[in-house]
Amino acid sequence: MFLRHPLLLVRGIGHGFGTRFSEPAGAEVRFFRQVHGQKVLEVGDGEQEGPPPEADGGWTSASGISVAVWTADCLPVLISDPEGRHVAAVHAGWRGAVRGIVPEAIRLLQAASGMSPGEFLAVIGPSVKSCCYPVGEEVWSEVRQLWPGWSGASGRPRLDLPGLVRYQLEQAGFQDKSIGEIPLCTVCHPELFYSHRGMGEKRAGRSMLNFIRRSG
Ligand SMILES: [Zn+2]
Repeated sequence: MFLRHPLLLVRGIGHGFGTRFSEPAGAEVRFFRQVHGQKVLEVGDGEQEGPPPEADGGWTSASGISVAVWTADCLPVLISDPEGRHVAAVHAGWRGAVRGIVPEAIRLLQAASGMSPGEFLAVIGPSVKSCCYPVGEEVWSEVRQLWPGWSGASGRPRLDLPGLVRYQLEQAGFQDKSIGEIPLCTVCHPELFYSHRGMGEKRAGRSMLNFIRRSG
C-alpha cells in the first residue's frame, strides 16, 4: 500500500509514499545511497550498474523509470512539472533541507523543462512533524537563519520540517495551490510507518520507499 495525493493523481503522474505495507521495489525503481546531502542526480533509462550512487534525490524525464528515496521520519518530497514530463524525488531531513536539496531539485527541473517553479507541483509526504520533533540549539540556529519566520518558541523548540520545506517551495516561486501535503506524522502513526525516532532499534533499518515517475 502506497499513499497517493490528488494533485499528482489527477494528472496521471505515477507516484507513491511508502508505508509498512508497501510492495517491494521493482527493477525500474532507481534509488540512491542517501547521505543527508544536497546532491540530486539525473536518472536515464539505461540499466543501473553497480551499487546505487550517492545522492539524496533524483530526477528523470525517461518513461517507465521511477526515481525513489527511502525515509523513516525524514521528509520525502515529490516534484513535477505541470505535465508530469520531468519529475523528482527528494529525501530531506533537517540537514538536507538546510543544505538546500529542495531548491537544488527545483533548479534542475527548471533547467531541464524550461518551465518556472510557479508552474510546478510538489507534494510533501509523511514525516516526523513538530508534535514529535524537539530540537537542540544547533538545529534551531541553522533553521532560524534560513527561515526567519520560524518560531519553534515556547519551551524547547520543535522543528516543523514540512513547514520548512513548504517555506522553501514558496520562496522558490511555487503557488500555494500547487503544494500538496500528506499531513501524517510518522512517529504518531506506528501502525502505518517505520519511524527512526519512534521505534529505535526495533526498526532494524527498515524504511519506506517513496517514488515518482513521469506520465505517459
Ligand atoms: Zn507526532
